[in-house]
Amino acid sequence: MICARRVFRCFRRLERFADRITGAAGPWFVALAIILISLGSLSFFTIVPPTLPFPWLTTPACILVALNMFMHYYYVCTISPGFIGDPPVLPGSGLLWAPPLRRQFSSSSVEIVKARMSRCRKCGEMRPERAHHCRICNKCVLKFDHHCPCGIGINQCVGIHNERHFVLFMAYLVLSTFLFSVLGLPRVFDALGMTFVPWTHAIPAFCFLMSYMLSIVLCLAVFIMLLWHIWGIAKGETSVEAQDHEIYRKIAKDRGEAFVNSYDLGKRKNLALFFNVGRHRYPPYTLILPFRIMPYSDGFSWARRDGLQRHHGVREGEELTDEFDEDEDEEIR
Ligand SMILES: [Zn+2]
Ligand SMILES: [Zn+2]
Repeated sequence: MICARRVFRCFRRLERFADRITGAAGPWFVALAIILISLGSLSFFTIVPPTLPFPWLTTPACILVALNMFMHYYYVCTISPGFIGDPPVLPGSGLLWAPPLRRQFSSSSVEIVKARMSRCRKCGEMRPERAHHCRICNKCVLKFDHHCPCGIGINQCVGIHNERHFVLFMAYLVLSTFLFSVLGLPRVFDALGMTFVPWTHAIPAFCFLMSYMLSIVLCLAVFIMLLWHIWGIAKGETSVEAQDHEIYRKIAKDRGEAFVNSYDLGKRKNLALFFNVGRHRYPPYTLILPFRIMPYSDGFSWARRDGLQRHHGVREGEELTDEFDEDEDEEIR
């Protein structure tokens, strides 16, 4: 037992150390991500589209995919994730904002229930359910998913206001790199000198090959991340909740009960709520055009499964909170 605690503390120290390093290096990761994505796009657009059939159709389609990728990246990096204490976010009226299908969401078929509040022992703020304290930002974030310091170069928290852009950015990054990998393959043979087509492009063959390889690696790595996130969204849980729910399942099982996540309204509804599209919400074109939209909730009330005001199988006081982390932090100090 003592040995297990020591190992755990050691891991905790390593985790804190990694937090500090990645927190400090965050802006550099963002700069690197912007440079790599821009170079990849430049390589693709100067070399691949002119060689494609029906360029009047394929070139605008490629531009739309790239535009979505850049805009969602811009949004996820610049939109505040929803820190507790921030002024309430209201829908904008500018060109980048899509109008909802109806102004009033009250006729929605989903029951929205006010969230229970608790005080964060780290920053002292009152926060609703699903908010968690971010150790790197040192603030509580509404519907906290995770802090993305390096990963794919976001350098900020992913929460209620930028989680949709985070997932759409990953989706368009996967689509862009997939298109590069498939459509750029014939040009790889040209770059390697395996064909009789001379390399006359402004981008050197070596740079094109590097971008192409990076594209394949990114496509596979981000695709796995994207699947994992979509799976979580379909189950109605954030990355933090996915870990907590594993523990709740064990607690409920030991008691001979089954754990039921009260935020889980079924895969279809969960996905519709996350992307906030469908009847009484925003039009589906907001998934293929890079508009900004509001999340379905302000973070202080949540759609619940019929008849459930809290998770089934977990008693009052058994819920995991960030205080568990804090207790461990104090022990480590
Ligand atoms: Zn806090
Ligand atoms: Zn954070």
